[in-house]
Amino acid sequence: MELDLSVLVPCYNEEQNLPELYKRLTQICSATRGRYEIVLVNDGSTDGTWPMMSEMAAQDRHITSINLSRNYGHQIALTAALKHCRGKRALIIDADLQDPPELLPQMMALMDQGYDVISGKRIHRKGESWFKKTSASGFYRVLNMLSDVKIPADTGDFRLINRKVIEALNAMPEAHRFIRGLCALAGFKQVSLDYTRHARFAGKTHYGLHHMIQLAVTAVTGFSVRPLRLTFYFGLLLAAIGALLLVYVLGSWLMHRTVQGWTSLAILIITLQSIQFIFLGIIGEYLARTFVESKHRPLYFIDGMVQNGVEVQ
Ligand code: UDP
Ligand code: MG
Repeated sequence: MELDLSVLVPCYNEEQNLPELYKRLTQICSATRGRYEIVLVNDGSTDGTWPMMSEMAAQDRHITSINLSRNYGHQIALTAALKHCRGKRALIIDADLQDPPELLPQMMALMDQGYDVISGKRIHRKGESWFKKTSASGFYRVLNMLSDVKIPADTGDFRLINRKVIEALNAMPEAHRFIRGLCALAGFKQVSLDYTRHARFAGKTHYGLHHMIQLAVTAVTGFSVRPLRLTFYFGLLLAAIGALLLVYVLGSWLMHRTVQGWTSLAILIITLQSIQFIFLGIIGEYLARTFVESKHRPLYFIDGMVQNGVEVQ
């Protein structure tokens, strides 16, 4: 491996953050005294992010800029960065400086002690809404209840990983990617480092409710078939209740007390029917994901790349 460290940054409409990000990353990376690169991935931004990052890469050989053909989402942009990085170690970080790059020396020290993954654990979050904080912490709890791999609570993608882990992540081909889950699945020696998550340097979050729900569904369906099993057990439970009801109804009929009540019947039908549809939906979700995965389409296309000061693609 020719480089000691790669810093991976997915960027979507981050032109206001790039200059500050560049300044702080350069400062912190050059202090490590190793050979480093900063891999900036433009995820189909609609502002001046790409012209700015390609110019940066043309000026500074430490910068590799990759232009994706459209907006694919944070996890795929990160996947592209992981595929193209050349360092023995990789620091994954957001472009908005919510996660302080100044944690790098501490992370490097832990890696020197033999850890393969050092993930940042958010103990405080600044500048994020009550809703975002509560939903994020609820998300990790539900996820760990449902899924087979244990994803440490309150860790995002901000982490330092070594080549072993980079290769493990690159070897996982799925199109629905939840990288912190894949990282937990890979195993190796993992440790977390507490930090305070800051407010965005500039701009506002791209992860609205819709994206968070999408990521949560990817996380659950990607790491667990438990929802499918739960539907089966729930069916068994309902069947048992049904059998008890049958005994009651037959008993009343034998004792010539005809059961009254269209209302209760109608309620039962509606309830059972809606539960059935919910379960069909769950099955459909898995089926749809199997369908998408079975096509084996490339995860992204690259529409330009500047490396070592020249356009390479
Ligand atoms: N991002 C991306 N593609 C997208 C949305 C976001 O590459 O479609 C990047 C974004 O530029 C940032 C990181 O992913 O570097 C995290 O996004 P954001 O800060 O909006 O999410 P939050 O920190 O609020 O969860
Ligand atoms: Mg952010």
